[in-house]
Amino acid sequence: MTVNLRTMRFYIIIIPFIIILSGCSTLGLPQQDKLKQIDFGAPETIRFCILKDDRVAQAKVDELIEAIRLELSQYALNMDIPWVRPWKRPGFWIKDIHADLAARPLEEPCDRLLAFAGTSAGDFILGAQTYGSVETTSRTKGFVFAEWYSLVELLSFYSPQSVAVHESYHLLGCKHGVTMEACYDQLKRIKAITAKQRKAGNDFFPGIGEDDQLLLSRDEVNNKFGSRLRATIKSNQQTH
Ligand SMILES: [Zn+2]
Repeated sequence: MTVNLRTMRFYIIIIPFIIILSGCSTLGLPQQDKLKQIDFGAPETIRFCILKDDRVAQAKVDELIEAIRLELSQYALNMDIPWVRPWKRPGFWIKDIHADLAARPLEEPCDRLLAFAGTSAGDFILGAQTYGSVETTSRTKGFVFAEWYSLVELLSFYSPQSVAVHESYHLLGCKHGVTMEACYDQLKRIKAITAKQRKAGNDFFPGIGEDDQLLLSRDEVNNKFGSRLRATIKSNQQTH
């Protein structure tokens, strides 16, 4: 009886967890042969500004940044971190986190804004959440749940590192697919566009809006977030 109860408890915790993970599709199978044949051009740099939840250790942030850096280096893409700022996860739901990010302007010299959020037991028990997400308004802002319970990490096919890498691909405009081929094309394309922009004096790694529309400046990105962001900027100007 005790064993059965324990088993039941196990499934009560694990089943929603499996549902969460199945909600996160894959970017596709890596294709090493194709990857070797593609010329990704001269090295480029993308700047990730980081928001660190107080509950997340700096060592974990360093580890996740390193995982992204290593992944992007395959494409001759360097990752710079202009700053890491303290941040508090604004609410329980993913929409709360996205609303917080949407209300923050993408400021110079940031190309992307990535938040590393802490987790609570509710994230794993309720089963209504995912482990990371990138908005599709500009694909410049996203978050990763950076610290998981060790049991969850142990039983998962994923890890905070793999989620951080997954979300970094979305921040570069890659979508879910069967293979990574379309993603390689996207990386090559966006790097070439960035190089052209920088040559013309525009030092910004473009955002990618809905329907793959390019957002060539931080102003264009900020305008996409509309009145909510304008209200934040206005209230910041009033208070400082
Ligand atoms: Zn995804």
